[in-house]
Amino acid sequence: MMEAQKITPEEEDRMVEAAFKELLDGYMASNHRKKVEIIERAYKFAKEAHKGIRRRSGELYIMHPIAVARIVSREIGLGSVSICAALLHDVVEDTDYTVEDIESQFGKKIAQIVEGLTKISGGIFGNMASAQAENFRKLLLTMNNDIRVVLIKIADRLHNMRTLGSMIPSKQYKIAGETLYIYAPLAHRLGLFAIKTELEDLSFKYEHPEAYKAISEKIVATEARRNDIFNTFAKPIKERLDAMGLAYTIKARVKSVYSIWKKMDTKHIPFEEVYDLYAVRIVFDCPNEADEKRTCWNIYSEITDLYRLHPDRTRDWLSTPKANGYRALHMTVMGPDGNWIEVQIRSKRMDDMAERGFAAHWKYKIGEGEEESELATWLKTIQDILENPEPNALDFLDTIKLNLFASEIVVFTPKGELLTLPKDSTVLDMAFNLHTDLGVHCIAGKVNHRLVPLSHKLQSGDQVEVLTSQSQQPKAEWERFLVTAKGKTRLKWALRKERRVYVEAGEARFADYMKAHGYELTNENITKIFAAQQLANKEELYYRIGCDDIALSDQLLQPLRQKSNGFFRLLKNPLRRKQPKQPVVTEIAQPVDFKKTYLLHTENGVSNYIIADCCHPIPGDDVFGYVDENNHVIVHKLTCEEGMRLKSSFGGRIVTTMWETRNKKFPASLHVEGIDRMGILQEIISIISTTLAIYIRRLDIAADGGVFKCDLDVDVEDVGVVNTLCKKIKSVKGVKSAVRMNN
Ligand code: MN
Repeated sequence: MMEAQKITPEEEDRMVEAAFKELLDGYMASNHRKKVEIIERAYKFAKEAHKGIRRRSGELYIMHPIAVARIVSREIGLGSVSICAALLHDVVEDTDYTVEDIESQFGKKIAQIVEGLTKISGGIFGNMASAQAENFRKLLLTMNNDIRVVLIKIADRLHNMRTLGSMIPSKQYKIAGETLYIYAPLAHRLGLFAIKTELEDLSFKYEHPEAYKAISEKIVATEARRNDIFNTFAKPIKERLDAMGLAYTIKARVKSVYSIWKKMDTKHIPFEEVYDLYAVRIVFDCPNEADEKRTCWNIYSEITDLYRLHPDRTRDWLSTPKANGYRALHMTVMGPDGNWIEVQIRSKRMDDMAERGFAAHWKYKIGEGEEESELATWLKTIQDILENPEPNALDFLDTIKLNLFASEIVVFTPKGELLTLPKDSTVLDMAFNLHTDLGVHCIAGKVNHRLVPLSHKLQSGDQVEVLTSQSQQPKAEWERFLVTAKGKTRLKWALRKERRVYVEAGEARFADYMKAHGYELTNENITKIFAAQQLANKEELYYRIGCDDIALSDQLLQPLRQKSNGFFRLLKNPLRRKQPKQPVVTEIAQPVDFKKTYLLHTENGVSNYIIADCCHPIPGDDVFGYVDENNHVIVHKLTCEEGMRLKSSFGGRIVTTMWETRNKKFPASLHVEGIDRMGILQEIISIISTTLAIYIRRLDIAADGGVFKCDLDVDVEDVGVVNTLCKKIKSVKGVKSAVRMNN
């Protein structure tokens, strides 16, 4: 508002005209047929229709359709029909004009697109359950008529995201949430890579402002060093490319803030350990399309002369382009600082495609008539999603999301052999898939030369070495770590063979031990013992003793004594401990004021909120509130999957929140991994309970061969305490990682 008041109406009008001229200039510079007249008419029509209306930011409303049309033209590469529809996209919805008015002025095609955009936006986005998703399904189905509806909708959303700062915070969350959940994946699927990246970054900026700022600052702070390395790296490559007589650009491209954060979050690593922070991109001019592929491989070959090639990281998307149309040649070589650097080789044409998707085709075609046929080709690539729409709109969206992520991964043996496994496969899966013998004797793995437990989930491109020991024996609980059918079958087969031997050995050892300690082998005694171990029957007990899973110790006999020791019970039977009760919520809650930030507090043991069961946020986490039908505010993490669904389906019930809670404890789960050694667990426990005086609610430890894993639940005040705790645990010799789990 302030800004607008300072300038005169004449100045403001000049700004609008300048913005439109910029749009027109961009269109004139494109390869489309020059249909200036109709665009100018659409602009005048929209300007008149939105006259006197302003956006929340204070600027004239017409600036929004102009900006959307500019995105449609410059960033997506569409022609006059789409530019006109973009200019008119809010006219029917926000003013008294009808679709018929548009049709009589601009023809059927543009009117249909505007109608499609009107149907799926604004007013219908109500408070009804899953209305949002249902609308989106409609939107996707509209693509059967004209995919330009979706493209303009994405452009509309992009501009709204770029100007999101002027919205009230609860609206910001709703919009940022559904952008991340719906629009970014869709843009990705349509090959609009630059837009997808920007949508993600903007959503992230509003959902996690502090993390966004911290990462952005680190990118800037490390720039000088990155440039030095890049210059050293690029110099000999430039000499070679010059000698080839190519016209090209070579640049270091830093990853987006969001994708860096994703990597830090999923791999639990600090910024400094994200080694593939940037990629080097070579884009060359190639007048003749037929020469593109060969030129890519020629450049590849020159680079392998200069630098050491990573044998498993060459990606040939020239011969088989990605589903969204992406074509390029990727390779990874050893940089001057000893880190791997990814090099992406593309022609100018491929680069346009990568940034702008199929729409970039038009840049190389003449005439608007082509636009129709290219649209048809593009539409075909997404048709498969639309073929079987699910009855439930949310499921339908999930299906789209699933389709975006590969369901298979490709991993490599140390010898460079390639193995295709289902997503989420573990080291143990890999071992069993290679050979039963490797599986049954597997103790751990080395993934990209780092030691990991056999339960470690593999990522596509990992190089995996299976470590074995002849003393290792297969265990029933390994089934939890297996996702491949082959692995599961082979494990079962191995277990059946081994089991009988262990049960017999275990039974004999147990009987001797009982006798030596003066206990009779009565059914009652045996039941007490296996029940205390939470086992189903005595055979299971003998089996575990037989394979040294359960030690014959004084602790085992504990249940046979009169009184039990509380501390040991806590450690021995961790799962029996009850979860603490949810904070009590007042029965009839006050209606929530959605316009204000809701303060989360607790008074006399009564909280005015409920911690979500799915993600267990604690003070310090970035959270939001979902207000249920009883006016109870349920607090979710911003990163919570369930929360994302709520945000996109019940946007109207989302409230911004702030922690005001003090002196209250919240449950948090930690996961610790390391190399097993005598006494390590005692050290960890003593740090937690003695040094930091934190209460341990649950402790679950598993050691396989040389690697141990420990899951523990603790009660803490906030995120700061968890971070200190993780840091302290990590300082224990042998501990490789200590991280907070999401649930
Ligand atoms: Mn709009």
